Amino acid sequence: MEHRPGPTLESVILSRRCPACGHGVAVSFWDAGNQPLATLAFPESAEQAQNLPRYRLQFVRCVDCGHVYNAAFDYNQVPYSKHPNRMFNLGPLWRKHLDQVQRLLLEVLPARPTVVEVGCGDGHLLSSLARARPEGRYIGFDPNAAIQTDHGRIEARVELFIPERHLPQCHPHLVIARHVLEHLVDPLQFLQAMALAVSYYRWPIRLFVEVPCIDLALETGRTTDFFYEHNSHFTTESLRRMLERAGASIERLEKGYGGEVVYALAELPVQAHQVQLAKEALGFAQEAETRRQALARQLEALVQSGLRVAIWGGTGKAAALINQCGLDAQRFPLVVDSDKEKAGTYVPGTGQLIRFRDYLLEHPVDVILIAPQWRAADIVLEMQQHGISCQTVLIEYQGRLVDYFQDDHPYRPMEPPRFELFRRQEEHPVVPAPNFFTASVLPPPLEAMPPAADPATEWE
Ligand SMILES: [Zn+2]
Repeated sequence: MEHRPGPTLESVILSRRCPACGHGVAVSFWDAGNQPLATLAFPESAEQAQNLPRYRLQFVRCVDCGHVYNAAFDYNQVPYSKHPNRMFNLGPLWRKHLDQVQRLLLEVLPARPTVVEVGCGDGHLLSSLARARPEGRYIGFDPNAAIQTDHGRIEARVELFIPERHLPQCHPHLVIARHVLEHLVDPLQFLQAMALAVSYYRWPIRLFVEVPCIDLALETGRTTDFFYEHNSHFTTESLRRMLERAGASIERLEKGYGGEVVYALAELPVQAHQVQLAKEALGFAQEAETRRQALARQLEALVQSGLRVAIWGGTGKAAALINQCGLDAQRFPLVVDSDKEKAGTYVPGTGQLIRFRDYLLEHPVDVILIAPQWRAADIVLEMQQHGISCQTVLIEYQGRLVDYFQDDHPYRPMEPPRFELFRRQEEHPVVPAPNFFTASVLPPPLEAMPPAADPATEWE
């Protein structure tokens, strides 16, 4: 028998983000060429049908969870707001499946439930739930206007469901998304946004999701499942992985309709660590702004003092400090760097000429402001080794200029051996003891600084 070598890994590997689990590597699965929309085109003549635009179907498979998706998918090509996504709900076996779903949901709903259905279509499921449990509130979201309100039993919201906006408005016990997630560009992101909203508003919900299942298509080699509107093709496993990646705890994960759909009932709990991290993030931004303003006042005082100042460091984190704090070329013209290679270039953004540090031997200054705090210990050693002296070495720490030698900060040498070396040299310091700070330039004590607004209060 002739041995035919398979494709090399290099020729089939793709760096794509899996819509279900977030894994970053996929392999070619099936290339279906260019095809027209299959369910949402609605051509009005044979000619129009034959001339429909065609879109690329490049299906790939996540090697971690088994999800299949179209690497060439463009959500904007699918006209959801023009046409309802029609689902034929009248087949007797399909009706039986819908009845099963309804029974399952009624089992877990409280006596007076609030139910949100995302992508509710004509609202048939909400309608049957509302009739079975009329004391509840039933809200259907769909970006097209085909929702039947069933004589007011259903609140129709002709818009996309946005978790952070609509969860606190609706306070649902249950959020349903049936035959929706496979259409989204990033269904995992949608569930994760829901998870954060749930956590932030401390409003845990139940989630019911149902999607077409390709387990059988994979077993039998069936290709008709793979059309453009369905970006995502779930296996039972990839649906499980997606829910787990959103922090959901799965109560039921089952196949229905002869294995052609897979659905899950899950609890989406409050995840305190996400709220904590979000609070920290907002707090950082607020504090950074407060500190930037305080530092700007100190820098201006430094300019007004008339002392000669050099900034040490002109690129990377140093350039970030120079730009963020407005250390412009007019007020702070002198910039030096330890790296000879950088001498002769200019500070990005502000434009000071960067000079080699030895410039300071011939042109001494009163104050050296070390812009990259994280390298401050090395720079101070370098100054000592090369006989560069000044009155005061400053670094920025927590929104203040602090004296490198006298004030508290975490940037003195970390490793004990180097610290010892540093201490020994300090017995005969080349850098004189700092005496720069006078009353006029003294930074405001931390207590005197305006307190940063507590982000927690905004979040309660
Ligand atoms: Zn995956």
